[in-house]
Amino acid sequence: MPVSPPRTIFAASLVLPVSAPPITDGAFLVDRGRIAVVGTLSEVGRDNPGVEVRYFHRHTIIPGAVNTHAHLGFRQGDAPEGGSFSRWVKELVSRLPERDTWLAEAVRNSAREAIETGTTFITDSSPYGDCLPALAESRLAGIVFAEFFPFGFDTAEEAVDSFEETLFTLRKGLLSRVGVEVSVHAPYTVDPESSRLVARRARERGDRLSTHLSESPEEVEFVRGGSGGLESVFGVRSNWGGVGISPVRYAESVDLLWPGTIAAHLATGVSKEDIEVLVRTGAAVAHCPRSNQYLGCGISPVPEMLKRGVRVGMGTDGLWSSPSLNLFQETLFAVRLHGFDGETGLKLATLFGAQALGIEGETGSLEVGKWADFAVVESSPRSEEPEREVLEDAANDGVAATAISGKLVYDHVRT
Ligand SMILES: [Zn+2]
Repeated sequence: MPVSPPRTIFAASLVLPVSAPPITDGAFLVDRGRIAVVGTLSEVGRDNPGVEVRYFHRHTIIPGAVNTHAHLGFRQGDAPEGGSFSRWVKELVSRLPERDTWLAEAVRNSAREAIETGTTFITDSSPYGDCLPALAESRLAGIVFAEFFPFGFDTAEEAVDSFEETLFTLRKGLLSRVGVEVSVHAPYTVDPESSRLVARRARERGDRLSTHLSESPEEVEFVRGGSGGLESVFGVRSNWGGVGISPVRYAESVDLLWPGTIAAHLATGVSKEDIEVLVRTGAAVAHCPRSNQYLGCGISPVPEMLKRGVRVGMGTDGLWSSPSLNLFQETLFAVRLHGFDGETGLKLATLFGAQALGIEGETGSLEVGKWADFAVVESSPRSEEPEREVLEDAANDGVAATAISGKLVYDHVRT
């Protein structure tokens, strides 16, 4: 691994810190992986003589993308058919045994695609965290949410104890910017008692929690009425549905929602009352609109959530429900879907994602003290809305370089 000099100035014809106005001929000084100064190149260069400058002509530097919900363990090209969520998820589960033969390769390829399209922080959800080893080799910063399934145990306590043993083992010897947290897979795969117990213990430890929530019409039907086609996804009868309330209110009733929670999708049947539950509990949302479209799920009411102050980030989901791990493409899709402006779009892809995960003190914008996580985009915006132009260029294969903790982990800049 190449050793980077402890201090480097990165500069470009335009720098979009996201948390501050655009800087023409902008620059920032990176000191041991973190941003030490942000300003114009002439200021930063003048105050730091002798420090190596990497200047990107005809490029714009933006914060790296933060992917708040992904599954790295699926490969490109052989996704189950879309259109129906229940049919799709059943086929996915039936093919899990074959996944073992290509899992590591799929994670490596997914991680590479994420890096080469400007992502610097990723969250993976995988059964019992089985993507951790391959993700840890990728140089991405991120969180692996180890998915908890309670099958095969007599009591909730035994299931949670066993899961936590795996969780604590995964946490040993982690790299500094890779974490392992808890995922309660979904309302139709984890019973209420096990959900409540695993969530309560996670919350007491100060852990984060991820969950799939209110994703599909079938899930809404399962939680409300006990039917819908998701009653036996894993061949185990799920007899706890039919509680007569929405998935979001159900999740609140089993204590799954608090500020450390990131709920993925919220695509189907999300009412104003549900949004108020999110406001009240402080839970955040991962928006995955391309996956929702592929699986016949609805459109998440993200504009209303943002208006009410709910933290929302973007997620690509995995390659079996999404065409790519390119978070900027996912975000451009959302911008067009909801009619957002470019500034909101760029924030959704970066700072809002960091805020949704509670890591905004570490990444998500180009600010002093944060890790130098950024993407270099071949883009020279001319319009009044540079953020929109850069987002479009980043989405359309314009990412020329990506840096994580100040190290260029991908560098295809044409000089
Ligand atoms: Zn997912």
